[in-house]
Amino acid sequence: MVDLHTQYARIKPEIDAAIQAVLDSTAFIQGPQVATFAQELAQFTGAKHVIPCANGTDALQIAMMALGYKPGDEIILPVHTYVATAEVIALLGLTPVFVDVDPQTFNIDPEQIIEKITPRTKAIVPVHLYGQCANMEAILKIADEHNIHIIEDAAQSLSAEFIFSDGSRKKSGTIGTVGTTSFFPSKNLGCYGDGGAIFTNDSALAEKITMMANHGQKVKYHHEVIGVNSRLDTLQAAILSVKLKYLNEYTAKRNDVAGYYDKNLAGIKQITIPYRASNSTHAFHQYTIKLDGVDRDEFKLYLDKCQIPSMIYYPVPLYLQKAYKQPGVDRGAFPVTEKLSKTVLSLPIHTEMNAEQLEYICTIIRKYF
Ligand SMILES: *Cc1c(COP(=O)(O)O)cnc(C)c1O
Repeated sequence: MVDLHTQYARIKPEIDAAIQAVLDSTAFIQGPQVATFAQELAQFTGAKHVIPCANGTDALQIAMMALGYKPGDEIILPVHTYVATAEVIALLGLTPVFVDVDPQTFNIDPEQIIEKITPRTKAIVPVHLYGQCANMEAILKIADEHNIHIIEDAAQSLSAEFIFSDGSRKKSGTIGTVGTTSFFPSKNLGCYGDGGAIFTNDSALAEKITMMANHGQKVKYHHEVIGVNSRLDTLQAAILSVKLKYLNEYTAKRNDVAGYYDKNLAGIKQITIPYRASNSTHAFHQYTIKLDGVDRDEFKLYLDKCQIPSMIYYPVPLYLQKAYKQPGVDRGAFPVTEKLSKTVLSLPIHTEMNAEQLEYICTIIRKYF
């Protein structure tokens, strides 16, 4: 699905030098590269504050801890997402309130958010799934009206921009109260291990988040609140500083690949190519098609046999997972998500795909139909 080997080979001298500098300094924890990378990422995204942390799951958890939610508080999230979004909510004793997604964009449906708001609702967590922004303008309006927070899960959408109806643009993760992202190796800005970051424009909140991520202390050994140990390694920060310089190029490359697929798969009636929302650019973390009138398992097996990887994100909806089952919520409760879980398929998309690979994949797919 990704080719991290070729990507590394292209920038090897720069990466190796950055790693060697950390090794020579032995400042493995909170070395100067961490603050430098945070500054560079703030500049790239336009966020006032960037707080690096250990991974994207921690980023969500720390954000929710810093916002001071109490057990029983309700947090609204899309039911078609990666488990991490629901996991941290449940882990903190908060109540995940699932909302179905829009069948075209795969993102949380604002209309259905309104129906789920109660006096206990504290936040909405839009996930910019597969790299395209959720409808932030509608979500901002709802959050404003009900005086609740927005925590954007931008783990898959780093660099994607939301386009407001007045034409202004903001990078995903910088629009809500707080935003989070992940530097897992296969993400759009991937490091060589685990990593994550939190974005906010609120200076007081940034201070709390920084404290939460570092054992609840501002001054060493003086613990004001119960926090966690969640730091971005200096080595990872050094690697990310190098890779951030290429992120715009990487995003453009992913869009080229998506454009090629669009052109070559659009004519197949059993395939629905990804919908392009007019209010968002696309970071194409995934290129996800919907299949209709064809056995997905059989088609996937055929691709496997032709040595074309493909993945199902996500095969079992959260509300049907044993760990997240809620009383009375059963099959049929979220029809769009349930249908997507049975019909979506993500094709290889990454920064190193060449014309030959793309032509091969599309030819093999066309042959099947
Ligand atoms: C990857 C991902 C996360 C978690 O990131 P990690 O760094 O793996 O903890 C959270 N939310 C979404 C939508 C993701 O895709």
